[in-house]
Amino acid sequence: MLLVNSYHPQYQWTTQQTQGIKDVLIDTVHAENLHIEYMDERRFVDDEVYHTKLIELLKHKYQVYEPDLIMTTDDHAYNFMIENGKDLFPGKPVVYSGVNVPNTKMMARHGNIIGIAEGMEIEGNLDMILQLQPRTMRIIMLSDTTGLGLNMGKKAREIKAQWQADPHKKHVTLEVWDQFSIPELYQRAETADFNSVFLMLAIHKDKLGTYFSYEHHLPLLTQKSKVPVYGMWGTIIIGYGGLGGLMNNPYEHGKNAAKIAIKVLDGVPLKNIKVPGKAHYSPYFDYHQLKRFGIDLSRLPAPSTVINRPVSLYDEHAKLINSTIALFIFMLVVISILTINIKRRITAQRKLHQFNQELESIVQQRTKDLDERNKELQAASKILRAHAYTDELTGLPNRRAASREIVAHIKRYNMDFQPLAVAILDIDLFKSINDTYGHQAGDEVLCAVGETLKETLRPNDRVYRWGGEEFLIVLPDTKKGYSAIVCQRLTKSISQLDISNIGTITASIGVSNFTKGDSFEAILQRADTALYTAKNSGRNQVAAS
Ligand code: GH3
Ligand code: MG
Ligand code: MG
Repeated sequence: MLLVNSYHPQYQWTTQQTQGIKDVLIDTVHAENLHIEYMDERRFVDDEVYHTKLIELLKHKYQVYEPDLIMTTDDHAYNFMIENGKDLFPGKPVVYSGVNVPNTKMMARHGNIIGIAEGMEIEGNLDMILQLQPRTMRIIMLSDTTGLGLNMGKKAREIKAQWQADPHKKHVTLEVWDQFSIPELYQRAETADFNSVFLMLAIHKDKLGTYFSYEHHLPLLTQKSKVPVYGMWGTIIIGYGGLGGLMNNPYEHGKNAAKIAIKVLDGVPLKNIKVPGKAHYSPYFDYHQLKRFGIDLSRLPAPSTVINRPVSLYDEHAKLINSTIALFIFMLVVISILTINIKRRITAQRKLHQFNQELESIVQQRTKDLDERNKELQAASKILRAHAYTDELTGLPNRRAASREIVAHIKRYNMDFQPLAVAILDIDLFKSINDTYGHQAGDEVLCAVGETLKETLRPNDRVYRWGGEEFLIVLPDTKKGYSAIVCQRLTKSISQLDISNIGTITASIGVSNFTKGDSFEAILQRADTALYTAKNSGRNQVAAS
């Protein structure tokens, strides 16, 4: 395949279109088999000598490397193929792109040619300018006297005539400037009215034949200009000081042309291939220029592409910022959960402590209650015990107490042989007292006798109510013989009692002294025998055994 470009390889427009073509062809045409020629028509405009030599050169080269298909970019290469294609590459199909004004008559004569017109978007841009800057009173369209420049100027003048007839647009003056030197253009731009704007149609050279470089001259022009410079040729306008406009994207344009070329190579007849009438123009703007001329971004037609838009810190580090925020939120959640947990634990600990204190005070109270109950029980048991060993009527220790205590006396006696006497006292004729004065009176007598016995006896002596009207008396440290004297003192004090209503009473005592090897039963028996003797001897006396 042969690709013939109208301009030089350093020309942005050409570079981009070529790149679009290459990117589509890459799978179909091997890179080595794509031959690329640059006619350099921006720098050798209307140079007949150059053209003649170029034809000779191409003829020479491509007799050897005969192409199956020829692609062209922009007007000059297209026109060149229409005029010379049939001679140079007989019968070979031509696919063009970037042609502003296709020549239908010539194309019909060639017969084997197809492509996408680049067209121009003068009207669309004029309308858009008025939409963006409604106060605009003058639109100056910049062109030149080359073929393309004249073509575009012609179209611009037609539109001018239409606007003058349109009541909504006739207040706006449309002008076409195509006769100037580059310094004159700068000067005019510097002195332009504040309510005017420029629309770049096509400038390839000035009236002196000086090459107009979009990379070099356009930035100077836009810097000097007091008003915005609009344009429609994507990459050569935008980024070089042009404010923007409805633009053709050379890369996309090249891609679309290459797609048609592939169909032709595949053998699809040209008449069966549908092509758009014009390239696609979409709005592109330069952020810096919009700011410079105070044009609000919200006024731009949708969907506009804005280059040089400052990247915000967020845009630049969105991933990092987002993940930091996410991490921060995650940590906040974790901290919140931990805080809630700690608070709950503190509350639980406080409750537990309170509960423990309550429990402790309950236990203390219970212990205190138990102690008191214990003391009460001990007191009660003491009383009970006392009751068990006390005679209810006389208050003297009873028979049970006697039995228990006498054992201790006997033990002691057996250890150190201290003398010990045991006596049984029995009230005389007590039955008749009961019978005569009543049982109650008998009880009073029993009490009186008990009291007298206690009073009369020595501190170490013991008296027990033995049963009925009988009392048992234990006399420690009392030798035989002396025990009878003690007992006689007892009978005497009883006989001296004067009990109201009853008068005097008497009692008999049988007493016996403890001897070695005695049991309680044995000494008791002897005392009882002695008592029997005392009774039989006439009562109110003491008998010893
Ligand atoms: P003796 O001189 O022979 O001892 O004659 P006695 O009447 O005293 O003896 P006896 O054994 O015949 O009578 C004893 C009486 O004592 C019989 C009983 O009713 C009475 N008695 C026993 N215990 C009590 C008591 O606690 N209170 C009263 N009031 N009488 C009692
Ligand atoms: Mg008796
Ligand atoms: Mg009696």
